[in-house]
Amino acid sequence: MRAEAIVDLSAIKHNVALLKEKSGTELLAVVKADAYGHGLVATAQAAISAGASMLGVALLEEAITLRDAGITAPILAWLVQPGSDFKSAIDRDIELAAGSRKALHEIQAASSEKRARVHLELDTGMSRGGFLGEWSDIEAADVAGIEIVGVFSHFARADEPGEAQNQDQLTRFNEMVETLKSFGFTDVKRHISNSAATLTNPAAAFDMVRVGIALYGLTPDVAMGSAKDFGLRPAMQLRAALYLVKDVAAGTPVGYGASESTSRDTKLGVVTMGYADGIPRIAKGAGVWVNGKRAPIIGRVSMDQFVVDLGPDSTAKSGDWVVVFGNGSHGEYTADDWGAASGSINYEIVTRIGPRVPRIYSAHVY
Ligand SMILES: *Cc1c(COP(=O)(O)O)cnc(C)c1O
Repeated sequence: MRAEAIVDLSAIKHNVALLKEKSGTELLAVVKADAYGHGLVATAQAAISAGASMLGVALLEEAITLRDAGITAPILAWLVQPGSDFKSAIDRDIELAAGSRKALHEIQAASSEKRARVHLELDTGMSRGGFLGEWSDIEAADVAGIEIVGVFSHFARADEPGEAQNQDQLTRFNEMVETLKSFGFTDVKRHISNSAATLTNPAAAFDMVRVGIALYGLTPDVAMGSAKDFGLRPAMQLRAALYLVKDVAAGTPVGYGASESTSRDTKLGVVTMGYADGIPRIAKGAGVWVNGKRAPIIGRVSMDQFVVDLGPDSTAKSGDWVVVFGNGSHGEYTADDWGAASGSINYEIVTRIGPRVPRIYSAHVY
């Protein structure tokens, strides 16, 4: 096997239980984007078995894939494009978000005796999806024939718990929920917390939290604390086999553009993953863990491979497994390290692992 992402479903189950207990409320497991690269269906099953009461996805296709896999748990899809096949969604018991009157009208048009179950999305300050000015124009006719089962919003800065915008968004959310109550909607599920808010702001838990990154055992922001600080267990280990090991002299240029050269006589290792597999081409200061130590990237990452400096004393040989990132407990790089090395975040590192990397469900191997 060239490269594989080993996903430990017991870590995901541990994280669900921990986050559920922490929030003291219901948990929606966010499994969009192929469960942040961890595999949609397997992750969804693990999350439900560990006590998640609902699954959340961005796209209607993602929700349909879950239903086609036989998953019967409640599902919410929140980014369903105008003109989508809302009827299929309703037929398959997929709950839908609506953040505009137009969206409500499209959902109404697709509702029959089987009524759509809708969560109203509110823009409380992120200026992305959700009702803003149009909120005050909603009339009874806009929600006739559909069931309003939820109301939700999303934080822009939950990973900076001290920022006033969080409180502003909560205040706005509470006000908008009150308006809804005054219209007679008293039994709607309120939800606003993402992972960062779930970990830091119990006042925002309401009736359900929507947890993504923390479900996978990763911290929403390294500045807030590490996965370990929060008791989270990283679920993914990305590993690859060394294709080739070779001795080179000091001053040997490596890779496209000869952007780097060896600083001493050393051994180079060729790792069979590249930017087509989600290894950021821009990464600087990350590498792999091999035979008990770190070997940094040298030269540019190619499409299918990159080169690491194993060091002159390395005992690594072709065919040996290297850990690209893991939970860090052995000294290996983490998804946080790769995020930092590429001017990005752990979210982007795991979600961009390409489709030609098989996801293997097992405990991590070293
Ligand atoms: C992606 C997403 C989440 C999950 O965010 P995390 O930071 O990964 O916990 C929650 N709610 C919505 C609407 C999202 O799009």
